[in-house]
Amino acid sequence: MKKRLFCCYCGNTITQSEIEGKPRDYCRHCHTVFYENPLPVASCIVVNEAREVLLVKRKNDPYSGMWCLPIGFAETGEEVRNAALRELEEEAGIEGKIIRLIDVDTIENYFYGSMAIVTYEAEAAGGTLRAGDDASDAGYFPIMKLPKLAWSSNRKAIDIYIDQNKDSWAMVDSFKRLFPDMNPKEKFSPKTEEQKRLLSNILMKIIERDTEEISLNWAEDIKSMAPNLTLHLEALVKMNKDVLRAIRHWLQGKSRAIDFEKFTKMGENLSRLDIPLPDALNAMALSRKSIWVHVVRKKILFSPLEIYTTLEFNNRIIFIYDRINYYITTGYCGSPNA
Ligand SMILES: [Zn+2]
Repeated sequence: MKKRLFCCYCGNTITQSEIEGKPRDYCRHCHTVFYENPLPVASCIVVNEAREVLLVKRKNDPYSGMWCLPIGFAETGEEVRNAALRELEEEAGIEGKIIRLIDVDTIENYFYGSMAIVTYEAEAAGGTLRAGDDASDAGYFPIMKLPKLAWSSNRKAIDIYIDQNKDSWAMVDSFKRLFPDMNPKEKFSPKTEEQKRLLSNILMKIIERDTEEISLNWAEDIKSMAPNLTLHLEALVKMNKDVLRAIRHWLQGKSRAIDFEKFTKMGENLSRLDIPLPDALNAMALSRKSIWVHVVRKKILFSPLEIYTTLEFNNRIIFIYDRINYYITTGYCGSPNA
């Protein structure tokens, strides 16, 4: 930190004087007090879906050769958040979007003096990763295995970020362990009209659209897991489509329109086909499973909100199947009038 020697207004020698309880640079000639203010610095944390943090390698001093978050001074007239995005673009080639403020840290630096480092979380919205400007390299690093960072404030902000996210990550990781072979195909976009009533309504679209596919997967399950039912597959496939249609209506809020009594008739028919009740219930269990597995496979589950939505959906499905099973069983027992 360079020392101020002369007054920039009148050119006289600066002295140190006790002003407002602190030693400050003072010009005895024009009575100017030189207040020291921290320099505003903007930085951002960009984390990809693999939970890796974007870092840049510093080309210049201070800390030349060390890694850090994209960082730089905010200029007069520039919003600090825009400065963070500008540095991200200049140093790493990434166009970003601010998500939220993570931390404001004030530090004393031997090189720049007092700094107020503002760190945002940002997401990559475009551009191509490349080292630019005063960076000699740029890349993503696993958030839990970062190299030593140039700025202590960067490390502090990342620790805050980890602390804010660790519960979510634990939930997502645990959920993913349930489905190690999950290969999701579609992005989850919950901010639609459907979610207004119940979050899980968004997953209804999948059942509606993929009824055929779900039915086929279920038939495959029957063949491999309940081979004695293969004989009656045609009747069961028809039954399963009725079930899926009823579920669609139910979950779309047309529950009053569902005539659960028709599942009593279904039970009567299955009984007439000599399909044992335990086998029919087994087929229904596999039907329920086929919906659940299909939804989980189709949707990316990255956040607790998405996981909650899926669990809510599953809970509603279980409730419907329980009722359907009740009425099918009633059909097996013979109608009350018989
Ligand atoms: Zn002066």
